Amino acid sequence: MKEVTACPVSPAPPESQGNMKEVGPQALAPRLATLLPSCTGAAEFAPRRRSSSHSEKAEDWAAISDMPNQDVRDGKIIHALIADALFRFQGVETEPLDMFWTSSKDQEVIDKCVERVKSVYLAEQARGAHPVLLSEHRVDCLAVCGLPDICVGYCDCAIIADDSIRVYEFKNGHGPVHWEETIGQCKLYALGLIPEYGTRPQFRLTVIKPGRNYERCVTLTSDELIQWGEETMVPLVRGALQGKRTYRPGPHCNICPGRPLCRAWVTQMIAALDSRFGSEATVSLQQSPRLNEREVAELLRMTQEIESCQQPLEEWAVGHIQHGGTIPGYRLGHNPGNLRFHDEAAVRQILEAHGLWAQAQKLRTPHEMQKAIGNEAYQKLVAKYAYRTPGKDVLRRDDTIGGSAQ
Ligand code: SF4
Repeated sequence: MKEVTACPVSPAPPESQGNMKEVGPQALAPRLATLLPSCTGAAEFAPRRRSSSHSEKAEDWAAISDMPNQDVRDGKIIHALIADALFRFQGVETEPLDMFWTSSKDQEVIDKCVERVKSVYLAEQARGAHPVLLSEHRVDCLAVCGLPDICVGYCDCAIIADDSIRVYEFKNGHGPVHWEETIGQCKLYALGLIPEYGTRPQFRLTVIKPGRNYERCVTLTSDELIQWGEETMVPLVRGALQGKRTYRPGPHCNICPGRPLCRAWVTQMIAALDSRFGSEATVSLQQSPRLNEREVAELLRMTQEIESCQQPLEEWAVGHIQHGGTIPGYRLGHNPGNLRFHDEAAVRQILEAHGLWAQAQKLRTPHEMQKAIGNEAYQKLVAKYAYRTPGKDVLRRDDTIGGSAQ
């Protein structure tokens, strides 16, 4: 893939110039670190806040219902419900997540992931390998390679047995798997388990994407794993955090958090559009004035890529204005939040006492509940438990400003 030279959007922060201990806020989440072999520029877009697990407290989930990106929201919910099911399988009581309603397709994803892990765990138990099942487990991925507290994340699931460590990465949706980056993520989680559980002769790393009927596994020895960490990841992470960044747009950009703001990516996209369509503004006699099927497909792919950037770009612009910045021709508006129940357990009890639980099936949003049990029962029994989430700021055109955005 063509390499694009671009200045970083912002220079590497002074605290990242050499002293790794001082780069806490610039630490790289495993998901982002796995992009480095393809593009070290991705480090530019590391979030300032450390990533959290999918097992947030119930009160944090209220905000999730306001998340604009449905894929991200569904992904969080699916992962939380998988973790919840695995905790319950082990007899661990967790905060009730009954308020999450998932589509039957998402529930299928959850069931397949949970069943797969359970069957392996039970098989390990049956052969006397003393398995320990971990879910949403915090790992310091490069600590074993001498780089602690830089690449910290949460492993979706792992099974630690006497003679092997299995790591599972669950993917929802139907999109491409991005195997290289995903297996890199699994390797980082596996490395992160070593300080706590030691090495094993075998590390089995599995990616499961039920939406595509996809399951792929690789097996490594601990030596191979540690060698990959020390020889591939540590130099890349050190270099990237010290500001050595090269921008290489490619298919991996699709999973890079920097894409909408990345100058290299935008430059390449514009250049591709220009070279393919721009120079031919005048149609020659040999050409049809209409695009052919292949050209339509090409243009569709490009416009879809550009379109997929709109939401992240808007989110960035909202945050920028909230923090005192300006985007010419745009202002903030506010969308009201969604209705949620603040005490799902109480709502469930009331519905059960009135014989309405089967009708409600599962605690859903208050709006869906109202439809399921009828307005009268809803108002009489459970409406008082509903509250509105804070809502969110959104980007609006500011037509009051002369020369507003085109
Ligand atoms: S969007 Fe692509 S080119 Fe830009 S930093 Fe991310 S991976 Fe690199």
